[in-house]
Amino acid sequence: MEGKTVLVTGATSGIGLETAVALTRLGADVVLAARNREHGVPACREVARRGGRSEPEILFADLSVMAEVRKLAAEFMSKRDKLHVLVNNAGVNMNRHVLTAEGIETTMAINFFAPFLLTSLLLPALRAGSPSRIVNVASVMHRKGTLDWDDLRGAREGPGSAYSRSKLALVLFTRELARQLAGSGVTANAVCPGGAATSIWRVASPLTRFAMRLLLKTPREGARLPVWAASSPELEGVTGEYFETPAHLRFGLWEERKARKAPAPAALDDGAARRLWKMAGEITGLSHG
Ligand code: NAD
Repeated sequence: MEGKTVLVTGATSGIGLETAVALTRLGADVVLAARNREHGVPACREVARRGGRSEPEILFADLSVMAEVRKLAAEFMSKRDKLHVLVNNAGVNMNRHVLTAEGIETTMAINFFAPFLLTSLLLPALRAGSPSRIVNVASVMHRKGTLDWDDLRGAREGPGSAYSRSKLALVLFTRELARQLAGSGVTANAVCPGGAATSIWRVASPLTRFAMRLLLKTPREGARLPVWAASSPELEGVTGEYFETPAHLRFGLWEERKARKAPAPAALDDGAARRLWKMAGEITGLSHG
């Protein structure tokens, strides 16, 4: 990864932090995207210490706010011409229906609309860095998701979990992105890192969290698949795919090359993917420039 610029969102904890460390160790010039200084500055120090390099560059944005996503993209583009790997990792699993100031349900905003907008705005840098990769950190939970076409932004509290819905949207987006970028040298794939004991489970009860620490992957184990998708020569030119790991890496031998899976049937609906793209463009303001 020497000479490659990588941008990792949600790089201050869990899978994102471990991905940033691992890619730094592989020689990449990793730029961290963090919500705030409080978590961003210690993460920078940790990536430098464990990655064996000087402190990485860090950019700040609250990804629940589309105006901040735009600011993040503009800041990146003002500093760098090329991006070789974008890891859209930041994510939340809210257990309440909360709207952002822009009227978007928060989980949908962070897990789907932010990667949609950020990726779209960074495409010139990704094209300039070609061959380049987009890695969207999705979840096996997309299999339980359904989209509400009448209320994609989630203004009402719809049926089912917003988390599953957001990850289904992310997998659909990944496949449509790959279709649109075919032949450009920019690939787009989605990965589910498998269950890992990270702060995304903070809404669970203390007992459940204790059990998770015993049973689930460590954040470092969870980062294996995103790191592989970002860096492995095996994936050169591979695009529009979905990779999923078994939940309990700790209790079995596991090989990345066996992770390629068919996503949920709902994620294979090309008409839905195109419709989603169009609506996301309207909601994020991308269609209006
Ligand atoms: P985590 O809570 O440790 O990390 C989430 C990251 O997203 C944090 O760095 C956080 O600061 C960032 N983030 C959250 N809201 C943000 C905002 N408004 N603006 C900017 N950044 C924000 O959890 P994790 O498990 O490491 O999650 C990483 C990704 O992995 C997520 O997309 C998650 O959905 C996915 N995932 C996790 C698991 C799991 O079991 N841990 C399973 C499947 C998928």
